[in-house]
Amino acid sequence: MAANSTQSHSHHGHDHNGHDHHRHAATPEEALNAAAKTCEKQGLRLTDQRRDVMLALAEAGKPLGAYDILSILTLKGYKKLAPVSVYRALDFLLDAGLVHRLESRNAFILCPHQHGANETVIFLICESCGRVEEALSEEVKGTLSRIASHHHFALKGQVIEMKGQCAVCISQPMVA
Ligand SMILES: [Zn+2]
Ligand SMILES: [Zn+2]
Repeated sequence: MAANSTQSHSHHGHDHNGHDHHRHAATPEEALNAAAKTCEKQGLRLTDQRRDVMLALAEAGKPLGAYDILSILTLKGYKKLAPVSVYRALDFLLDAGLVHRLESRNAFILCPHQHGANETVIFLICESCGRVEEALSEEVKGTLSRIASHHHFALKGQVIEMKGQCAVCISQPMVA
């Protein structure tokens, strides 16, 4: 189900609130360059295919399913790309912390931050327009770590999904 309501917001990136330090400020190219540097630091190889999957996500600026990515890449000229190739590229990008997976939507989103692979990330998902913002919280991370260690549980990076309404939708209710 392609959310047709997401389109209306995609053109005006900046909204009424000027204090948007969690916004995707980087252009797709900047995002890719930052990712390439992160890979270099970790000794990982950003192949053309991985790079192109990232570029598709960067240009979309919103979560995409694996098959959305596949069809974008097919349009870009990858004639015989198998779904498994996209999944492999996504697995790599997930492990590297460059991309996150939104369980609830079975979709992938480019990480706008340069944080470690095992970071705890929080997604604020707007149920009205589909906008997704990523936030980091040392407090939440600390709380989860304490719970885990109490249970002698080895915690991996967590993705927390919060649902509600974004600032834009609160200030200007849209007709669905
Ligand atoms: Zn992230
Ligand atoms: Zn919204």
